[in-house]
Amino acid sequence: MIPNSHPRAASLNIRHKIIEGMHKHIVAESGLIAHGRGEAFDYLLGEQTHHFALAAIEAAAAMIKLSTHPIISVNGNVSILCPKEMVEFSKLSEAKLEINLFYRRPERYEAIKSHLETFGADEILGIEEDAQVELDGLESYRRIVDKEGIYIADTVFVPLEDGDRTETLKRLNKNVITVDLNPLSRTSLNADITIVDNIIRVFPLLQNFYKDMEADSARDILSKYNNKAVLNQAMETMSTEWKKKLN
Ligand code: ATP
Ligand code: MG
Repeated sequence: MIPNSHPRAASLNIRHKIIEGMHKHIVAESGLIAHGRGEAFDYLLGEQTHHFALAAIEAAAAMIKLSTHPIISVNGNVSILCPKEMVEFSKLSEAKLEINLFYRRPERYEAIKSHLETFGADEILGIEEDAQVELDGLESYRRIVDKEGIYIADTVFVPLEDGDRTETLKRLNKNVITVDLNPLSRTSLNADITIVDNIIRVFPLLQNFYKDMEADSARDILSKYNNKAVLNQAMETMSTEWKKKLN
């Protein structure tokens, strides 16, 4: 039990959720390590959404709006951290959810599926064996995708993603949107749109941008968006934000 008065209560509660998620087979053991790395970068951002992340979230909403077959790729950490908000955004944008795991164990697929169903998900791809096909050029289990989902997607939203698959999705000419607190990961560098922010803060903002956006303004936003500039601003913010604490 973490006392609410603890200065890091919010962060500790999230850690506990992740640990519980591991005991329920939703989160992989290495998901705990990935979470710790994310926390470190979030500390450097002052645990808040900055202007460069808002620009990327707006561009992500625009890209999904203009896509004909957008898919949200689901992993264990995301399912634990923001199931309700992710399911809501999937329904709002008609971007289907597809479970795609690096550590592929049948009990994890089942656990994630029933967890998301308790938050209102009614269609989840990535589970039906008959629908499975393989992406070329990827050795990990993440190559196995749904023929109605990532396989035919024009845009794939891959929060907290591994670099290998991002590179493969780009080679296959898909648009890739990611959420990654590390601006220097291979995923961040290779995605078309990199949201450098904590996933727990992203979905509500994405919903707001998406709801109010018309196709014309979506095209305008995307034509002006520059991902390299966003990554540079993220690194600059991380290297100056600490001054607020130390000086
Ligand atoms: P890459 O394979 O892209 O080079 P990596 O191997 O360093 O990256 P992975 O474990 O493959 O890292 O991917 C997990 C990524 O997710 C990490 O970069 C980590 O910073 C990020 N991350 C973890 N938790 C969160 C979170 N809550 N919100 C946003 N990003 C997160
Ligand atoms: Mg990796």
